[in-house]
Amino acid sequence: MTSSSTSSARFPRISTHGVPTRCWCGEGITTFGSSTAENRYRQFYRCEIARDRKTENHLFKWIDEALIEEIRMVDVKHERVAQEITMFEERVMEKVKSEMVRVEHEMSEKRKEKVDLEFARVSQEMKHKLKIATVAMVVVGAIVGIWTSLSA
Ligand SMILES: [Zn+2]
Repeated sequence: MTSSSTSSARFPRISTHGVPTRCWCGEGITTFGSSTAENRYRQFYRCEIARDRKTENHLFKWIDEALIEEIRMVDVKHERVAQEITMFEERVMEKVKSEMVRVEHEMSEKRKEKVDLEFARVSQEMKHKLKIATVAMVVVGAIVGIWTSLSA
């Protein structure tokens, strides 16, 4: 592999995404206008020292392409932020839902407890009333018994 590398590969071609600020060699960059027929007036970024070191591999990038990449990067960032917000909302909603379920459960447990207590109270009252009725019936029965024995 080393035999295939030439002097132009002195610096590894690090892929720069978006608008570059510096060449991978560490040098600053400037903008130039293309003078070739196919890209006439098209602007590009170029390493400041690349002009003097044509055999070396320095940063070259079309400005329009860099800007499109930059816009896409911002788009991706926006997308990610939007996704994060959605995820956060979902997480919050999940928490709220589970909390609501928990509270509901607790509430229904308490309600059930209350109903049970009320039921116990009512049945106790019923029993009490029944007891009174029974006593009353016994009393009535006794009176009737006495009355019948007296009238016989
Ligand atoms: Zn450079």
